[in-house]
Amino acid sequence: MNCPDLYLPIALFIDDDHTLHLWVNRYLSNAGFRVISCFDGEQGIEIFKEMSPDIVLIDIQMPILDGFETCRALRNLPNGKNTPVIMMTVTEDPEGIAHAYACGATDFVVKPVNWEILIHRLHYMVKASHNLRRLAQNELRLSKAQKMAQLGDWEWHAIRNSLHWSNEIYALLGLDIDDFTPNTRNFRDFIHIADVPYVLRHLRTIIKTKKAATVEFRIITSTHQERFVVQQIEPLLNHKGSFIGLVGIIQDITERKEQENKIRHLAYYDYITQLPNRVFFLQFLTKTIELAKRNKRHFAILFLDLDGFKGINDTYGHQVGDMLLKEVSTRLTDGLRCSDLASRFFDYFDHKVDVARLGGDEFIILLNELAQPEDAATVAERIKRWITKPISLGDRQMHIGVSMGITVYPHDGDDSGTLLKNADMAMYHAKKLGKGHYQFFHKGMALRAEKRLEMETYMNLAVAKNELRLHYQPVVDARSGRMIGAEALLRWQCPQLGFLPPNDFISLAEENGMINQFGAWVIREVCRQYSIWQQQEFDDLTISVNLSSLQFNQPSFIPMIESTLQEYQVDPAFLTFELTESMIMADTDKMLVKLNELKKLGIKLSVDDFGTGYSSLSYLNRFPLDYLKIDRSFVKELSKSQDAAAIVNAILALAKALNLKTIAEGVETDQQKQFLQNTTCDAIQGYYYSKPVPVEEFQHFWTLTNKAILQT
Ligand code: C2E
Ligand code: CA
Ligand code: CA
Repeated sequence: MNCPDLYLPIALFIDDDHTLHLWVNRYLSNAGFRVISCFDGEQGIEIFKEMSPDIVLIDIQMPILDGFETCRALRNLPNGKNTPVIMMTVTEDPEGIAHAYACGATDFVVKPVNWEILIHRLHYMVKASHNLRRLAQNELRLSKAQKMAQLGDWEWHAIRNSLHWSNEIYALLGLDIDDFTPNTRNFRDFIHIADVPYVLRHLRTIIKTKKAATVEFRIITSTHQERFVVQQIEPLLNHKGSFIGLVGIIQDITERKEQENKIRHLAYYDYITQLPNRVFFLQFLTKTIELAKRNKRHFAILFLDLDGFKGINDTYGHQVGDMLLKEVSTRLTDGLRCSDLASRFFDYFDHKVDVARLGGDEFIILLNELAQPEDAATVAERIKRWITKPISLGDRQMHIGVSMGITVYPHDGDDSGTLLKNADMAMYHAKKLGKGHYQFFHKGMALRAEKRLEMETYMNLAVAKNELRLHYQPVVDARSGRMIGAEALLRWQCPQLGFLPPNDFISLAEENGMINQFGAWVIREVCRQYSIWQQQEFDDLTISVNLSSLQFNQPSFIPMIESTLQEYQVDPAFLTFELTESMIMADTDKMLVKLNELKKLGIKLSVDDFGTGYSSLSYLNRFPLDYLKIDRSFVKELSKSQDAAAIVNAILALAKALNLKTIAEGVETDQQKQFLQNTTCDAIQGYYYSKPVPVEEFQHFWTLTNKAILQT
């Protein structure tokens, strides 16, 4: 069974001839139309308003309102623009037909009507009008969408050289549709002059390759505003595939671009100095490396770190700190701008990238087109001059210094990460040289750094894994030869790195703070060992322990000592702390308080490596000290130099005056020992008697020497 059409097209028939109504009703109904008929124009108009028929048939000759007037009236109705209207005439009178078209008729038929043919025509017209209506709706929708998306379209036909724009393009360019006829020449006038060659090049490629493409460029509107647009262009081809023109969609992306730029600025620039940041710099460095690789060129990067910035920041606050960073960045950029050595590369905003801020008080400078790598040193010198000039911030005058590390591509690395890391390392070494230095990177630094890093990982576990050891070096009475004490010296039995002497790891432990754990372990271990000796009545000796300043300055240091002594129930008098001159002299007032506290506990105090540092004699006098240890370097020279002997004698005299006992360190030869025995030196320590040894060996030595002495 055929489903009946739910929707039948409505045909409105207007004619005063009653007989014709019968025919029309019959033929059109049979042909699938729903027929509504009436006998005069006025009635027809009313029905039209209400029903919106799909097609209208009007007889020209009618009383009151004739067919022409009726048609004209229909066309003026809001729903009457696109409905097909067919006029019926009795003759093929050309004037009448022309008049009918002028009134808005779609077509005409001549009476008597050939119904078969008319029905075909009616069907065709209804279908065409429906399509037209759909098209019009789509166009309307499209134009609304285009307006919303700020999108316009255009079409260019090559043979006719005709260019058509949609309304949106006029709006985009700020033009009036009625005042302006577009052509290829005047469109070009709207393209930003700098982008013209680029756009034309694209168009030529599309025409040549017959492939669609997208191009972004800037336009200047009739009101002289710059806008960013993106164009998608497709070639128009005929049925043979030959090129006949172009179609394009153009979209205003100014807001998006501005947004993108803002985001990019946030992501790539430092907000304090407005210099490129680390992310940007690394990207740029990668590009620079590619170029340098291709052109077989070298370049240098300078890693800058301000000296004393932290102090200023802490003293005057972040605001002053930020101002200082800004001033430094201005000095760097201004200085480099005048310098012929600065970068010749440009970023995507057409900015030169030669200075970046990596964060904190670290800056980086890229030096391109170096005639020779050594020229980087010249720039480093200049930078130092620019930065060290006094800086006025408000009513304050400040001075800031800079330390720099330099790496040269490709010598010191051929990727951005390595170059930067090595420059950082060189800077670190420059800092170690003292402030205001620059230092070129060399391979030795990297090796050391890698080793340190490895060591640091193992170091964290050394105490927990029980890898620390103490060796004891005897201290012998200069006159009797009796062992009166020992110095406890730290060793690290590291499974990965081997058996390490303290000089290999103490400085690192001091840097990363591990020395606190190590130092606490040493004190515990010494106390534990001494408590055993106490029980064995091996207890007539003092054990000295080396302290580092970091450990000593910890607020918990003295309580820790007290509790350890308590825990092992040992007599504090057995313990001597060795401190260096620089430690004691660093903060004399605080030191005096601390040393007195230790003294009160009953612990003895010794000045280690005496003679190598600077000591103020008046202070030495005030400190509650017990021993001076004459540094090994003087003892070593004793037999060779008169001066060394004089120094040792002077130290001995000084110690006597200060009422301090003396221990000579590093005694290796009989000659040295004899020299010292002929002075007032109280005790001797050195390889001559014994190297620092593990506890069993030490006990063995102890028994042997003291027994030997007893026997003599
Ligand atoms: P130091 O306090 O000057 O210790 C004496 C160093 O001289 C020891 O080196 C010892 O082995 C060495 N020595 C002793 N007699 C002679 C000799 O006759 N000839 C020569 N050439 N050297 C001799 P060691 O054990 O390698 O310790 C080096 C430094 O490590 C020590 O110098 C001390 O500053 C530090 N240290 C050792 N243990 C500790 C510790 O537990 N804590 C802290 N903070 N530092 C420690
Ligand atoms: Ca020592
Ligand atoms: Ca020493």
